[in-house]
Amino acid sequence: MGMLVGKKGIIFGVANDHSLAWYCAKALHEEGAELAFTYQGEALERRVRPLADSVGSKFIEQCDLSNDEAIDKIFTELKKQWATIDFVIHAVAFANKQDLEGHFVDTTRDGFKLAMDVSAYTLTAVAKRASEMMNGDGGSIVTLTYYGAEKVVPHYNVMGVAKAALEASVRYLAADLGDKNIRVNAISAGPVRTLAAMGIAGFRDMLKVVEAKAPLKRNIQAEEVGKTALYFVSNMSSGVTGEIIHADCGYSILGM
Ligand code: NAP
Repeated sequence: MGMLVGKKGIIFGVANDHSLAWYCAKALHEEGAELAFTYQGEALERRVRPLADSVGSKFIEQCDLSNDEAIDKIFTELKKQWATIDFVIHAVAFANKQDLEGHFVDTTRDGFKLAMDVSAYTLTAVAKRASEMMNGDGGSIVTLTYYGAEKVVPHYNVMGVAKAALEASVRYLAADLGDKNIRVNAISAGPVRTLAAMGIAGFRDMLKVVEAKAPLKRNIQAEEVGKTALYFVSNMSSGVTGEIIHADCGYSILGM
C-alpha cells in the first residue's frame, strides 16, 4: 500500500510537464496521495488540465498567488471539496527577465518588490490558509529554493535575495506552526531545465558547471526532486522541520 494513501494536498506551480511541481505531484500520486492543482495564466490551463486529469485530480483552479482574494477563494473552494488537507507543495517564483541578467546592483524597487512578493511572501500567504485546514494530524508544507540564496550565483541576482527570504520564512513558519504538528521544509534543487530556469541568463552554463564539478558528476534529475518532496510529505520525515535539503548532486558542499 502506498505511503500516502488517504492523504490530500494542493500543488502550486505546475506550468507544464517539465515543472518541478509536476515531478513532485507524480511522486506523491504514485504513493496514493489525492491532489489538487492551481495554474496561473489561462493559457496554462491547456497544459495543466490534462496533467491533473492523468493523476485523477478533481480540483484544478486558476490562482495568481500575488492576489490575496484569489488565494482565499482557492482555500474556500478546497474546503468545500475536502474538509481538511495534509500537505502543500509551493513551487512558485517570478522575477522580471531584466533582473535575471546583468548586475544585482541595478535592481529597481519595483523589480525587488515583485520578486520578493511572488517568490517569498506567497509561501507565508499559503501557509496561513493551509494551516487552518490541517486539523488533527498536522501536515507538511514544502517549498523549492536554490543555492543562489546562500552564495552569489551569476545572474540569479534578485531571485537569490528572494530565495534567502524564502528560506528564512521556512524557519519562522516551522517555529510558528510546529505546535499544530505542521512541518515546513524546503528542497534546494540543483539546476533543472524548466520554463522559469530558462529565463535566467547563462542557465546552460550552470548545467555544464554542475555536471563538471558536482561530486556525483551530473545534474539532478527532476524525478529526484520529486522523491525529496515525497520524503518531506511522508511520515519518513516526521521529526524534520525548518530544514533546507540540497538535492543538487552535492554541488553545494564544494568550497572550491
Ligand atoms: P516552472 O515550471 O516555470 O514553474 C514556476 C511556476 O511558478 C509556474 O507554474 C508559474 O506560473 C508559477 N508562478 C509564477 N508567478 C506566479 C504567481 N503570481 N502566482 C501563481 N503561480 C505563479 O519552473 P520550475 O523550475 O519548476 O520552478 C518551480 C520552483 O522551483 C520555483 O520556486 C523555482 O525557483 C524553484 N527552483 C527551480 C530550479 C530549476 O533549476 N528549475 C532550481 C531550484 C529551485 P506561470 O508560468 O504562469 O508564470
